[in-house]
Amino acid sequence: MAKEITSRSENYSQWYNDIVVKAGLADYSAVRGCMVIKPYGYAIWEKMRDQLDRMFKETGHQNAYFPLFIPKSFFSREAAHVEGFAKECAVVTHYRLKNDPNGKGVVVDDDAKLEEELVVRPTSETIIWNTYKSWIQSYRDLPILINQWANVVRWEMRTRLFLRTAEFLWQEGHTAHATKQEAVEEAERMIDVYATFAREWMAMPVVVGKKSEAERFAGAVDTYSIEALMQDGKALQAGTSHFLGQNFAKAFDVKFLNKEGQQEYVWATSWGVSTRLMGALVMTHSDDNGLVLPPKLAPIQVVFVPIYRKEEELSAITEVVQKLRNELHAKGITTDYDDRDNLKPGFKFAEHEMRGVPIRVAIGPKDLEKGTAEVARRDTLQKQFVDQDKLANTVESLLDEIQQNLYNRALEFRESKTVKVDSYDEFKKVIAEKGGFVLAHWDGTPETEAIIKEETKATIRCIPEDLPEEDGKCIVTGKPSKRRALFALAY
Ligand code: AMP
Repeated sequence: MAKEITSRSENYSQWYNDIVVKAGLADYSAVRGCMVIKPYGYAIWEKMRDQLDRMFKETGHQNAYFPLFIPKSFFSREAAHVEGFAKECAVVTHYRLKNDPNGKGVVVDDDAKLEEELVVRPTSETIIWNTYKSWIQSYRDLPILINQWANVVRWEMRTRLFLRTAEFLWQEGHTAHATKQEAVEEAERMIDVYATFAREWMAMPVVVGKKSEAERFAGAVDTYSIEALMQDGKALQAGTSHFLGQNFAKAFDVKFLNKEGQQEYVWATSWGVSTRLMGALVMTHSDDNGLVLPPKLAPIQVVFVPIYRKEEELSAITEVVQKLRNELHAKGITTDYDDRDNLKPGFKFAEHEMRGVPIRVAIGPKDLEKGTAEVARRDTLQKQFVDQDKLANTVESLLDEIQQNLYNRALEFRESKTVKVDSYDEFKKVIAEKGGFVLAHWDGTPETEAIIKEETKATIRCIPEDLPEEDGKCIVTGKPSKRRALFALAY
């Protein structure tokens, strides 16, 4: 069959690309590192976006929109920020093209050079804090709780569909607070929102924790992240929330009059998730038959396929299917009816498997006689016959079961791939042979972290928040350590 994909064991990376392209999620584009998100992929992203948007609004945030272009000078105001992003910035220098005097198409018009070059936003802290300066005068103007849905550009050298692209879609929250404590609480609240979304909607287990200094966002005091484990044993940072301290307020001179009548710098956070979540979703659940989607994010939750030879059979089946679909729609379940007459059922089955539709219902002439339907679930590929009058209820509970099963399966996988090690030799062996998450004591210094990265390519994903303190010794230097860090090879 034309839709065949490479197996995970044969070539994991090719398997991933095959699924993204063949399930119709995205395509490569004419611009290196950029991608086209196709309607089916976009429909999944919209479901993610809508749910996240609800969660942001439930936690008091409003949406707004800031410009795509940022004056270059804004970047130099915050030293760490510019240092972190300079290498990935796309810069606009001109605003006009003209016909090539040599007759070869068009060229940049040198007469149309911008006085100040513009950076295509890689993230919007600078332009937003420049704006907040005029919005904030007193404590009464705080907090500001704003989110923006946007595209950003980071000129990445090694790109992968969804996981790391030069342009990506994301949301970025930017909040301003009167106190440090409030800002820290906000940063923690939002990483928890991401963790809840990952677990309950994506059925993806994540570890929540703080980043080490070396892995922190450029300009942040603290970065919190959610880290997920992909099926090849590599970690993926799936979302970040930053406590920015007063760094951006100082850089853009944003002060407020506090209740005591004194001028103070404002406290800040920012937080974001991107279309990388699409890649995370694919890599967490899918198998060698294609995409596997958690029901809560599947654009189509149930697909009906008629099995027939004669036209009369089809019309009788269609009548039953319409009734069943109406029952499902009444429960808020989304369905599709694949009655394309030029394709065999086997082909359709494979295609819906490839696209990760959680439940397939096949109905043929025998089912019409017996009042049954064949229900197949995508996660386990198991099939069962169900009475038509019980179908709506069965499907409803099956969707919940699939959602839960996917989470459990991914959690079990992660647990089987998480080990504690107490020596550097063991650490190297596990990272090289088994992959996965490795919990090890570390002395807390960037130097030791750099040695480990240099020698094993493993990085500190985070210092997990729910891991109890324990006395130990750094696996490299033997210096005392109070907590284990989570290490892994990462995307
Ligand atoms: P950051 O602003 O660096 O904290 O990143 C915010 C979110 O965007 C994180 O969830 C990252 O995983 C994600 N992200 C960062 N770079 C890329 C990229 N090149 N492509 C897709 N997502 C990205």
